Amino acid sequence: MKNQRRFKAPNYSRDCSLAKAFGVSAANSGTTHASQSRHREKDKLRECIDNADFAIMTQARELRLAKRMARLGTETAFEVLVKARALEAKGRDIIHLEIGEPDFDTPANIIDAACDALHKSFTHYGPSAGLPQLREVIAQHVSETRRVNVTPEEVVIVPGGKPIIFFSVLALVEEGDEVIYPNPGFPIYESMINYVGAKAVPIRLREDLDFRLDVDELVGLINDRTKLIILNSPQNPTGGVLEKKDIDGIARAIGDRNIMVLSDEIYSRLIFEGEHHSIMSIDGMKERCILLDGFSKTYAMTGWRMGYGVMRADLASHIARLMTNSNSCTASFTQVAGIEALRGNQQSVDAMRAEFKKRRDVMVAGLNKIKGFSCRSPHGAFYVFPNITKTGWPSKKLADALLDDAGVAALSGTAFGNFGEGYLRFSVANSIENIEKALDRVSAWAKENL
Ligand code: PMP
Repeated sequence: MKNQRRFKAPNYSRDCSLAKAFGVSAANSGTTHASQSRHREKDKLRECIDNADFAIMTQARELRLAKRMARLGTETAFEVLVKARALEAKGRDIIHLEIGEPDFDTPANIIDAACDALHKSFTHYGPSAGLPQLREVIAQHVSETRRVNVTPEEVVIVPGGKPIIFFSVLALVEEGDEVIYPNPGFPIYESMINYVGAKAVPIRLREDLDFRLDVDELVGLINDRTKLIILNSPQNPTGGVLEKKDIDGIARAIGDRNIMVLSDEIYSRLIFEGEHHSIMSIDGMKERCILLDGFSKTYAMTGWRMGYGVMRADLASHIARLMTNSNSCTASFTQVAGIEALRGNQQSVDAMRAEFKKRRDVMVAGLNKIKGFSCRSPHGAFYVFPNITKTGWPSKKLADALLDDAGVAALSGTAFGNFGEGYLRFSVANSIENIEKALDRVSAWAKENL
C-alpha cells in the first residue's frame, strides 16, 4: 500500500494550489523561455511533494531528539502488559499479575457523582491548581489523617499521582544535585532524577527489615549536595511499610538541613498490619515535605487520572504553573467526583482492603510452597515480592519464562532498580481463583524446570 502511494501519478489539479503555496504565480507558472530552468526545479519539487506524503518525507530525516530523552526511563509493567496481550491475541491464556491497578470497578457513588457533574456542565477548564471545592476537601482530609494543619492553598490537584513526581523533580532538582530514592522502588523516581541530570542515589530496601530502609544507611548517604529524599510507604513493589521509629529516624537524619522530602503515600489506605505514618506529621517537617496521594489505588480510579500534592503554598504556586504549562487543569467533572470519593461512604475502601488482604495471604502461602521461592508477608499495598535467588535464575529471565511457558505475567524485580535482582513482583489485583490458578502454573513450571 505504502509503495503504491509513494509512486502514484502526479496530481495536477493539486499542483495548482501547491504552485500558489510555493509562490509560483499564474503568470510565471507557464513555460516561458526565461523561467524554464527555475520552472524545472519547481516541477521537481511539485513532483516530490506529490509523490511522497509528509510522513514519508520526515521518515527520511534523522530524528534529532534532545539528549535528555536518552536519560528518561520507563515503567516495565506497561511493556509486559502489551506482551501479555499480544500472547492472548494469539490464543494463549494469560493470568495477569503484572499491572498495579485494582481490578474492582470504581464505587457507584463516585461514578454517579461524575455523571451528575457532567450534566451540571463541569465540562470546562478549571483553575490549574484544581477546583477550590476539592482543594478544600483534600486540605481537611490531609489535616485529619496526617494531624497537621493544611490549607487549600497548599494543595495542587493533578492528573494522577505521577505528575507530582514529575513536577516536584522538575521544580526542585538541578543538574548535579543528589536525590536519594528507594531501590527497589517505583521506576519513575529514578527515571525523573536521571532526566533532569541529577545524581540518583539509591537507598536499599532490605528484605530482612521487611523491606524498610535502614536509617543508619540513609545517614551515610546524605551530604551537602542532597536536594531531595523520596520516601514511599506503603511501598511499591515490596509492600514494605515504614514504622513510626523509621519516620522519626529519617526526620532526625535530615535534622535542620534544607532538604525536601517527597513522600509518596499513594497506598496510605491499603495497610493490613500496623498504621500509616507520614513524615509530614513530624514537627518541623511540613514545610520541607511534599505529600503525594491520590484516588487511583484507594478508590479503584486509575483510569480517571486524579491525584494531588500537598506542599508549602509558595511551592504549590510553582507546581500549579507547571500544570498551566502542561495540562492546563485536571478534568473538572472528575474533581467533583473526587469530592464524593473523599466525603462519601468509605465502605468500598474497607471492602477492597479486606479482599486484598485475603488474596495476599493466599499468594504468600502458595509461593512459599514453591521450590526456590520464599516470600515475606507484605504489610501494605497490593503486591508480593518473593525472593527467587534459590531458583538459580536471574529475575528477568524467570519473569519471561513464567510468561512464555506458564502463562503467568509477573514483573522482574529489576524493573524496580538494581536492588530488585533476586526478586519478582506479583500484583494481587486479581481474583483468588486466578491467583490459585497462577500458583498452580508456577508450581508446575518450577517442578519441571528447577
Ligand atoms: N506512586 C507509586 C508508588 C505507584 O505505585 C503509582 C502507580 N503505580 C503511582 C505513584 C502513580 O499513581 P497514578 O496512577 O495515580 O499516577
